[in-house]
Amino acid sequence: MSSRTPLTGSAQLRWELADEPAPQGALFEGVRREVGTGEFRGMEFLHVEAKRVLNEVKGSGPGNPGGLPFRWTVNPYRGCSHACSYCFARPTHTYLGLDAGTDFDQRVVVKVNAVERLRAELHPARWAGELVAMGTNTDPYQRCEGKYRLTRGLVRTLLEAGNPFSILTKSTLILRDLDLLGEAARRGLVRVSLSIGTVDEAVWRATEPGTPPPARRLRAVEQLRAAGVPCGVLIAPILPGVSDGDDQLAAVGRAVVEAGAISVGHVVLHLRHQEVRDIYLERLATTFPEAAVDTASRYVGRTAPKADRERIAATLRAAIEAAGGHLGAMEPPLPEAPAVRTPAVEPPSADQLALPL
Ligand code: SF4
Repeated sequence: MSSRTPLTGSAQLRWELADEPAPQGALFEGVRREVGTGEFRGMEFLHVEAKRVLNEVKGSGPGNPGGLPFRWTVNPYRGCSHACSYCFARPTHTYLGLDAGTDFDQRVVVKVNAVERLRAELHPARWAGELVAMGTNTDPYQRCEGKYRLTRGLVRTLLEAGNPFSILTKSTLILRDLDLLGEAARRGLVRVSLSIGTVDEAVWRATEPGTPPPARRLRAVEQLRAAGVPCGVLIAPILPGVSDGDDQLAAVGRAVVEAGAISVGHVVLHLRHQEVRDIYLERLATTFPEAAVDTASRYVGRTAPKADRERIAATLRAAIEAAGGHLGAMEPPLPEAPAVRTPAVEPPSADQLALPL
């Protein structure tokens, strides 16, 4: 464990929200610290009571073609033990007064009342019935979900409310909830996306050390599909100089089509935040030093050079089409939302949204 500042109470966490200019004060009430034991040794869990859990993504949702396809998100955890070196959500931890590196990987904020809050916020008197997206900030099926079961509770609550929802994850733990997801699928309420950026095991080990292996994620796609759950794959992020070789792209493109993904999208790495850039390059230097130097010199802006992005898209498209698939939108089609009512009470602004793919 790295140099870790001990937490002694709520006063040491700054609950300031990522998308808000001003501190949000008591959005969470109190912090109870739990030190991980057994399989969670080395972790800390910061239990908080969230005042609200539905978060609005301004400028997104139906009718906002320039934004994301969903307007509302719920995230029971902040921080993620999957520890992907490129994770776009890392800066959200610094808003809490924690660091974006090992704190993000090892100190996970747990909204222990997320299920009861969601149930209250979905009350028909105050909720319009719009689609709710999960996995937009940190992974809802990261390892500690096996212990807290909050995502399962959220899925059950959305199912009971007949509310459409989507899930994006890198984890095979989602298979634990096949019973609920299968029922939601039969009612046309859910779609799932597995994020699988590569099938190259060396790259996976170096960049996503806390995630299940790509082969198990591909198997999860098959199992979700066999259970009738609409499941696509997001090939993301593709890492220039690391996972963007022609053979690597062909392999992942072919594999996701063979797994039965109903849609395939892709995202090339971007490095919008300086903190993410620093952490990604520092960790990459220990395993792929030449690629780290190359990336540092070529990512002069926030994204890969246009020529790289075009080559990756063309190579991936050819591989996917050769396998009988189609490279399309980022995610599978959203389930239909019921007729939208106007909420009587406006839920809060977003405290998150990083699409940490
Ligand atoms: S990219 Fe997703 S799975 Fe990886 S650390 Fe970030 S939130 Fe977790």
